[in-house]
Amino acid sequence: MTTNPKYIFVTGGVSSSLGKGIIAASLAKLLQSQGYRITIQKLDPYINIDPGTLNPYEHGECYVTEDGAETDLDLGHYERFLNVPTSQANNVTTGRIYQSVIDKERRGEFLGKTVQVIPHITDEIKRRIQILGNSGDYDIVITEIGGTVGDIESLPYIEAVRQLEWDLGEHNTCVIHLTLVPYLSAAGELKTKPTQHSVKTLMESGVQADILVCRTEHPLSEGLKTKLARFCNVKKEAVIESIDASTIYDVPNLMLHEGLDKVVLNQLQLESSEPDLTRWNAFVKRHKNPKSEITIGLIGKYVELQDSYKSILEAFIHAGAKKEVKVVVEPIHSEYLSESNIAFKLGHLDGVLVAPGFGERGIEGKIDAVKYVRENNIPFLGICLGMQMAVIEYARNVLNLKAANSVEMDEHTPDPVINLMESQKNVINKGGTMRLGSWDCTLQSDSIAQQVYQTEQIKERHRHRFEYNNDYKTRFENSGLKSTGVNPETGLVEIIEIPENDWFVGVQYHPEYKSTVSNPHPLFVAFVSASLKYKKKK
Ligand code: GLN
Repeated sequence: MTTNPKYIFVTGGVSSSLGKGIIAASLAKLLQSQGYRITIQKLDPYINIDPGTLNPYEHGECYVTEDGAETDLDLGHYERFLNVPTSQANNVTTGRIYQSVIDKERRGEFLGKTVQVIPHITDEIKRRIQILGNSGDYDIVITEIGGTVGDIESLPYIEAVRQLEWDLGEHNTCVIHLTLVPYLSAAGELKTKPTQHSVKTLMESGVQADILVCRTEHPLSEGLKTKLARFCNVKKEAVIESIDASTIYDVPNLMLHEGLDKVVLNQLQLESSEPDLTRWNAFVKRHKNPKSEITIGLIGKYVELQDSYKSILEAFIHAGAKKEVKVVVEPIHSEYLSESNIAFKLGHLDGVLVAPGFGERGIEGKIDAVKYVRENNIPFLGICLGMQMAVIEYARNVLNLKAANSVEMDEHTPDPVINLMESQKNVINKGGTMRLGSWDCTLQSDSIAQQVYQTEQIKERHRHRFEYNNDYKTRFENSGLKSTGVNPETGLVEIIEIPENDWFVGVQYHPEYKSTVSNPHPLFVAFVSASLKYKKKK
């Protein structure tokens, strides 16, 4: 549609957690719905090479792409909104930037020069920003800059934006500054000063915001918009109100109403038309008008933080909308579960999902939970560690291997029903070394899995080091725990089911990463249906 790709930068001011990712994804949705080929990337100013080694308490869930990149959870929003896969190129950290520059220095490629933040680090940032644009696959690249303007660690990124604006020339770039307009209840007023200051901070680095997206709890008056425009050097129509929404899926329509897409396209001298949001709006309508309700227990150890299981929660929203069911997800902390309180904590649920995770903390509670749902025939979905817990529970309580465990939790267990994968045995470094990304799986006929996917071959995304131990396979199969999905090359068990139960499925992979608004994940849809059926039968 366009010859040279255009670049939109999204910076944040005043405060973190204003939702740059959602604004970027919503704008992208509006542009995509007008026919533009669009992608979004996130630049994270921390030193970790990727978020793979980060605890979910730090930045929430680690999102895994098709190509096996461990990335920021905002990439999940991009995929869920746009239904276009992202890749390693969509997430860059300061650690990764420095690593490539330092590697280059060690190879002698700087030919004796002093290596400096400017130009070497900024050049590498500029190169990374343009990788997606230069691929020829996109008309527009949106780059979200993590952190808040004024942070020391984001300075090189802002400098790279300043330089790129010069390099690429007028009308090829656009800077959106997401800011907060707080309401002071004592004064009964919305305040513009923090925004004025953050725009000024941006200007100190030579970057003028073209558009202000203002997060606010109350509508912005015309007078206030005029004031912001005047003080911040932007056109009045470029002051966009972003009022708190009841769901993130309302944000594209709110931005459309405010004309964000038009201001952006105008700045980039691209044609604008009426975005076709028919499918999107049909989804939002179903999401907001459920015909029934179910309660699913989410058993994990980071449940107090919404962001830790972001993709799972969103996958339930997509599946719920598809089935016109409101899915109430009840977080249940596995550390506080025991046989004595399990019936009280799980008895009222219509379905139970045991979450992914790492390490020993809270796993006995997960195992108790699986036992309870298995014995009471409550619909069960185990994801990654959740699937492994189901295998351990079955080994302990049905095969009577009382000390069965995963070697992740007990290296010396006499029955390592979950074992370290062969390919992991010599792995020393923790970062980026798991079995990651998309792998094949062949489904067995007459399984729930095949009914769900309606095909025999699937590909799903992974993130694990441990696996179902095939030495126990015959015993499991003979007593009723079936492996219904297997990797065709290695025989690694990807799916387990208990056909004797109505709906008991564990998956070694992460279906939640692939669920989008236009393509709710079939496994979540089936789990929601099974839970609804169970509720009706109760
Ligand atoms: N800790 C388990 C493993 O590494 C499960 C990982 C996960 O749940 N993502 O195999």
